[in-house]
Amino acid sequence: MLKTVAPGQLITVKAKVTALREAKTLQTSRGTLKMIEGQIVDPQGYSKIVFWENFCDQVEAGTTYIFENIQVKKDAVTKQVYVNTAKSGTTITATEPHANILALAPTFTVSDDSMTTSVEGSVAGVISTSMYIACNKCNKKIQNDNSSEIIKCNYCNMQQLAGLCPTQYYAQFFFLTTPKKDRLTLTLFNKVISQLFSTEGVINPSKNDFVKVLLGLKDIVVTYNKRSKVVTNILRPHI
Ligand SMILES: [Zn+2]
Repeated sequence: MLKTVAPGQLITVKAKVTALREAKTLQTSRGTLKMIEGQIVDPQGYSKIVFWENFCDQVEAGTTYIFENIQVKKDAVTKQVYVNTAKSGTTITATEPHANILALAPTFTVSDDSMTTSVEGSVAGVISTSMYIACNKCNKKIQNDNSSEIIKCNYCNMQQLAGLCPTQYYAQFFFLTTPKKDRLTLTLFNKVISQLFSTEGVINPSKNDFVKVLLGLKDIVVTYNKRSKVVTNILRPHI
């Protein structure tokens, strides 16, 4: 299916969705995003496909669709070529099944946890931090540059009081492993940072407090995703 195309290209294919994984929500610097991974098959071959945001609700396993303007991608770690729905231009339309026999595809495993690893070490530097308020309804980041009391979410349009919106935290830090002294740049999103604040007893931290908490992380074990470099857990084994 994808033998003759290059990563980055937009393509249109008619294919059957043969498997879908559970929907996941990802914490990203643009807020929370919903995604589903699946497999599509046509008479020539098969591919992994990633559906983002609204497209997650448009597909069902077992149905054949025309996928218009989906983007060809290459995974930086596994080198696997796959397709995903583009930020703009993609449409998905249900259609009749293929008249020809579909290609044979390997079983699509339903879970994908092989990408995390744990290392011991210390935070040696803070590269960047950010604090922003998020929409109460859809959890997306809200710009509030003039600190107004009533703010509107650009994503779901809900108007709300800024004081009732949750604060979300984000940080990127420099990590030195022990004993090998490998240097890693890792990212922290709100979930892990909130856990960190609660174990440290920090409430409503200033930017300075936030940096101090991060720089206090010595001799810890971090678990992170090898592909995205996002930390999923922090452990302090010596306390
Ligand atoms: Zn919203």
